Amino acid sequence: MNSYNFDTFVCHEMSVNGSGTIHGETVYYIDCPGQSSHTTNNSSKDCYVGLGSELDGIRWLYCKCFHNSCLSSRQSFIKEMNKKWAKGLPLSNDVKPRIKFTSFGSKLKGVVEANDLKKKATNYVPPSPYTGTPINENHIDDFKLFVSMWNEKDIIFIGERGQSWHNGAYFYEMNWEDIMNRFVPKFKDGKFPYYTIQTTLISKAGGRKEEHCGTRKFIVFEMDNETKENQWKYLFFIRDYFKINLRLIIDSGGKSLHGWFDYDENILTMKSIFKHFGYDTKLFEIQQPVRLPGGYRQEKQQYQRVLYNKINQT
Ligand SMILES: [Zn+2]
Repeated sequence: MNSYNFDTFVCHEMSVNGSGTIHGETVYYIDCPGQSSHTTNNSSKDCYVGLGSELDGIRWLYCKCFHNSCLSSRQSFIKEMNKKWAKGLPLSNDVKPRIKFTSFGSKLKGVVEANDLKKKATNYVPPSPYTGTPINENHIDDFKLFVSMWNEKDIIFIGERGQSWHNGAYFYEMNWEDIMNRFVPKFKDGKFPYYTIQTTLISKAGGRKEEHCGTRKFIVFEMDNETKENQWKYLFFIRDYFKINLRLIIDSGGKSLHGWFDYDENILTMKSIFKHFGYDTKLFEIQQPVRLPGGYRQEKQQYQRVLYNKINQT
């Protein structure tokens, strides 16, 4: 009996609020079946289902709750569940499990975690409310701010989505004066290239490819199916919940806000969770183009403005 089956079964049969680990074993938090009999306040982690010790070749499910008044409801609930559970189990080596176990199990877990995270994020109060107001008066200052995130001699990409260095993109070896002389005039003709990437490049000649990317500095979070108020709230939630530095929030000039976080490899291990949460995890790929802060978005006739800046804070 492996715990994979347990995950799939619980997520399939019960309405799960989230998962956790107790004594090294996965448990799933559910709404208590006897919630109506609770005499004190409910919290989301009051009641959970886990896998108990083995009896007659089966590890049976149990259901525990912080409250005592719900005991009889839980007992009848878990009895029903264990009947189903036993039917689905391989009782000997010859019997195949009822549920086909594929990668579905782990995907399901991503959904559960994402739902749990989203519940928390939805209730989160950001340090300041969303106003949509750029912090700088001028978009050129947004661009300057962006440039200041990099180190002298870093090679960064500024260009169009499909551009490589030999057809006009700018692989820039950082030099403050030169970069300003080169780019600021371009703002004025309205054709300023408007993409960049989240990493430095190892050479100017490489092109925007994974193997040409240097040490990763940032990871950008973007979603476009929520209001900007919610996106704002979620970015701060992610900052505080996962304790990663949020450096910039950019209004993309379209439907989304972009959160520029310091790169943390743990984020990549949670990719499927963030995907279910609603983030465009394509942007988690190192060579993926992302809209340039301060750049111009032609089709929307909007500049990509900086709404929040903590570049220089440790
Ligand atoms: Zn209860």
